[in-house]
Amino acid sequence: MSYHEFDCSTCIPSRKEHAVDKGPGEKLSDALPLGYMATIPGTLSERGCAYCGAKHVIGQPMKDVIHLSHGPVGCTYDTWQTKRYISDNDNFQLKYTFATDMKEKNVIFGAEPLLKKNIIEAFKAFPDIKRMSIYQTCASALIGDDINAVAQEVMDEMPGVDIFVCNSPGFRGPSQSGGHHTICIAWFDDKVGTVEPEITSDYVINYVGEYNIQGDQELMQDYFKRMGIQVLSTFTGNGSYDDLRGMHRAHLNVLECARSSEYLCNELRVKYGIPRLDIDGFGFEALSDSLRKVGLFFGIEDRAEKIIAEETARWKPELDWYKERLMGKRVCLWPGGSKLWHWAHAIHAEMGVNVVSVYTKFGHQGDMEKGIARAEEGALAIDDPNELESLEAMYKLKPDCIFTGKRPGEFAKKIRVPYLNAHGYHNGPWKGFEGWVRFAQDIYNAIYSPVHQLAMVDISKDEIDMGTSFETRRMLSDAKLTPEVANDPKLRQYTGQYDVMPALRAKTAGDYPYMKQSKVKQIA
Ligand code: SF4
Repeated sequence: MSYHEFDCSTCIPSRKEHAVDKGPGEKLSDALPLGYMATIPGTLSERGCAYCGAKHVIGQPMKDVIHLSHGPVGCTYDTWQTKRYISDNDNFQLKYTFATDMKEKNVIFGAEPLLKKNIIEAFKAFPDIKRMSIYQTCASALIGDDINAVAQEVMDEMPGVDIFVCNSPGFRGPSQSGGHHTICIAWFDDKVGTVEPEITSDYVINYVGEYNIQGDQELMQDYFKRMGIQVLSTFTGNGSYDDLRGMHRAHLNVLECARSSEYLCNELRVKYGIPRLDIDGFGFEALSDSLRKVGLFFGIEDRAEKIIAEETARWKPELDWYKERLMGKRVCLWPGGSKLWHWAHAIHAEMGVNVVSVYTKFGHQGDMEKGIARAEEGALAIDDPNELESLEAMYKLKPDCIFTGKRPGEFAKKIRVPYLNAHGYHNGPWKGFEGWVRFAQDIYNAIYSPVHQLAMVDISKDEIDMGTSFETRRMLSDAKLTPEVANDPKLRQYTGQYDVMPALRAKTAGDYPYMKQSKVKQIA
């Protein structure tokens, strides 16, 4: 592989070591982009800060908690509501954002009294919520406010409330990844082991590194419950504060996003001897293997196989309908971190698309290594790209779609490249068998949207060719298919509900017969 030099970045020579072209037959060891390093002065990064990584990515999906930022309101506002990590308690954690709103006078004279006032005010405003997470920002860190001491003072004065403090200011690490690490260790040190949970199954897991984007956690939890497995806690999507204090009693840590939360699993293994099993909820093959591995661990492989057979029979004909129509489409896979390698091979193998570029904003070199290995030959791999580099890559590669965040997504739309939100999704969940079909549907809808044809019409001209008639998605997607494939009776478009959550949440104990049959052994 050779390093890739962007024309727009020749004035920043050290950027060259952050991008490579995956050449034919070349080895990863020949060249690997640098990763997880401080952004080079002169390049405008799209990264979030370490406070954002701690609060926005990991802390805030916890559902029954007041999430309070101790700092200027801008830090809070920019980390609010941009990721759709829903919850089954009416999305409390998405509806409100809390900040102490530090001003200049607080920076000069100290903001501990302001913090205490805000904590008490917030608990009084929401008397049903007894748990709080407080996040340090650059401003409160630089003036040296002792957030832990203030939190302890309030806990002493208000019996029944419990407060977690995360000291991860924006400058703690080169990117949001530093915040992921800090909050995992802080939660483990301060909160794990402080509650004894109720064990209701012989098979008990913590589901770690899963953030319930548009329902991912709830879809995956359904499979575990169908296998008779108790999900003791989820770190952190749709997760409950007190459930997460009892993580130490699980038999197995099932880890989804290793980049953001492997640190927690590693600590749980060292102190409590709980093994770690890495799984992948994206893609039929990876998900099937994951359920098999979990089943194998507990000796209930037959239950996993039953679910795999049922779900594959139900959803594979729909996945294949999209695969026929997406075959050969070129996509840039530009998410934040681990989706780079969760998706790179799976979308090629199961949806037929070619991954022509991978990038990561906060991934480490190991993430890039896995992503490049799973991408197509010729793919351009970029670490921490700036906007101009992304634009140059899109003009060169001419992708049919990019999967990325909102910021690069917006300028992609300006140059008429369809974009899917890789962080918050479009019509998720995208995990699980049904979710994977929904992802394929979203890709199909993005690429074949007739709006892209209309966008090519130059409306500034007086003369517009009105003879071109409107073409539907189906007309566009089926134009090059043979009649046999286009009308294959075995394949069909997605037939699930627009919103899958009501049916999932309406399930009762009767839908999980293995949960009832469990003979519970309480761990000493
Ligand atoms: S870098 Fe500092 S000031 Fe900026 S959003 Fe992050 S915590 Fe706030």
